[in-house]
Amino acid sequence: MDKKERIVFILGAGFSAPAKLPIQDRILQEMIKKPAADFLTYTPEPESTKFLKSYITVGLFLLQNYTAFDCAEYNESFEELELKSKYTKLDISVLSEDTEKNELLILREKIRDSLEKSKIHVSLEDVFTSFDKTYQSREYFHRYSSQYVDEIKESITRLFVYYFSKRCKNHTYVESDYLSFFSYLKNHATNSAIISTNWDVLTETYLEKQKLVYDLSLNDTYYTKDGLVTSKSRKTIKLIKIHGSINWFRCLNCGKINIVNSENCGNYLFDDKSQETCKSCRITKNADFLLQSQIITPTMMKSLNSQLYTNLWSSARETLLKADHVYFVGYSLPIADFDFRYLLHQSISDKAKIDVILYHDDDPKQTKKTNLKDLLPEKRYHDLFAKNQIEFHYDGFGAFFKKQINNLS
Ligand SMILES: [Zn+2]
Repeated sequence: MDKKERIVFILGAGFSAPAKLPIQDRILQEMIKKPAADFLTYTPEPESTKFLKSYITVGLFLLQNYTAFDCAEYNESFEELELKSKYTKLDISVLSEDTEKNELLILREKIRDSLEKSKIHVSLEDVFTSFDKTYQSREYFHRYSSQYVDEIKESITRLFVYYFSKRCKNHTYVESDYLSFFSYLKNHATNSAIISTNWDVLTETYLEKQKLVYDLSLNDTYYTKDGLVTSKSRKTIKLIKIHGSINWFRCLNCGKINIVNSENCGNYLFDDKSQETCKSCRITKNADFLLQSQIITPTMMKSLNSQLYTNLWSSARETLLKADHVYFVGYSLPIADFDFRYLLHQSISDKAKIDVILYHDDDPKQTKKTNLKDLLPEKRYHDLFAKNQIEFHYDGFGAFFKKQINNLS
């Protein structure tokens, strides 16, 4: 058997760009976007009561902390509605479900409108970061109960999952950029691994559609599968998602990871008809959160002490140590990814060949100003991998892999 070079593909946010996935900091814009103005053709998507409550919780938190808006009135009506819904569980005749939902819908729209008018400008990633910091210093706990802080944090995560998966679902999975990438991968299935920094499920879904077998590098005892292909063969491609995934949910009772079919994951936790149930320990909970979304931001890495991520990161390290050739696809090597940059620096051999595939916007040739050039990814790559042979490509990954395939034939 000839010895093939071992390839690792590192996928960054730019890899999700052709699918028009909202990049983390654009989720808020998605959240406050006005529903389509054309009401003749507009049919609103059904929103569950659970979704509306999460939306309102997050919306009120944002208005209160990041705008000058006084939301005392909204807070009051939300509390009233929450009380009513508790009461109706005892006596169904007091308030019908529809009335409650209608009131929630009206309140949701008022909050959306206020967020839009206040021109709020904060990224949800910043909100996440401030949570992590206050978690350690307990600052917020003076103003909010820790239970409320947990509720806001979990609601934000669930909204992330919702908006991401909505976009993934609208994707047609025939986009030529991806088809080029995956057919190149198919040709190198026996000697390739993927490390993804993205939360979305584009990669898994394409792999499944291309009939490529993959392994998520999770320790088997950590999850119960949901129709996923996990059988290992020589052609199994390692897919390591170092920041978690929108379709991974950890059970707060037994700690196991529940993996949900990627198509359903957005609505999974917002389904009014079914209660949250863990597929492993079979526990069901109605009121509080049972399943916790597994998506983490770079700042969360530091405070995280979880076996799941320890396993994933050590798997990534092992994979990189053996790599002969590393392709960075749509990854700009952001400064904020401290831990990942450290891992890359420690694990990639000086002899490994590096290709960096980005878009025109990142090309230093677009500007003559040195201070601007220094802000672009190329400088960061040269700084981190001073000894490696690095090639940069700025036509996007679709064009790049198409060229590679043509070279093969
Ligand atoms: Zn469980």
